[in-house]
Amino acid sequence: MAESRPYKLPLPRTGGLSAEFYRFCRQHELRFQRCTKCGTWRHIPRDMCAKCGSFEWEWALSSGRGKVFSWTTVMQPMMPHFAEQVPYSPVIVELDEGVRMVTWVTDVPPGELKIGLPVEVVFDDVTPEVSLPKFRRAT
Ligand SMILES: [Zn+2]
Repeated sequence: MAESRPYKLPLPRTGGLSAEFYRFCRQHELRFQRCTKCGTWRHIPRDMCAKCGSFEWEWALSSGRGKVFSWTTVMQPMMPHFAEQVPYSPVIVELDEGVRMVTWVTDVPPGELKIGLPVEVVFDDVTPEVSLPKFRRAT
């Protein structure tokens, strides 16, 4: 039986296309929209391709592999929910498919983050309904 640990941080909004994104995450699949006309991947979910204007797309499976693109380190929490987390680093990961997402790197302390650090996705089942895509050093 899984250990019970109440999740105290805000959960993502799960309406519209984001609900579909998080439904795949719940299955531990990292999928992004890919335009079926020009092949461009995109994130965050939206209806139209910014490159060619097409409304035709699919949920394509990502490799789950990428690299640290950038990050910041939060020393003073902007929301009380994060008071126990400081210092922490919201990280922008660039996936091999070219999309970027804001996430966590779970096993690298803020002082050891480096641009270009190879990472791979891991899913954190924070509630019975929500799994968050996070990253760890790639092996
Ligand atoms: Zn397109």
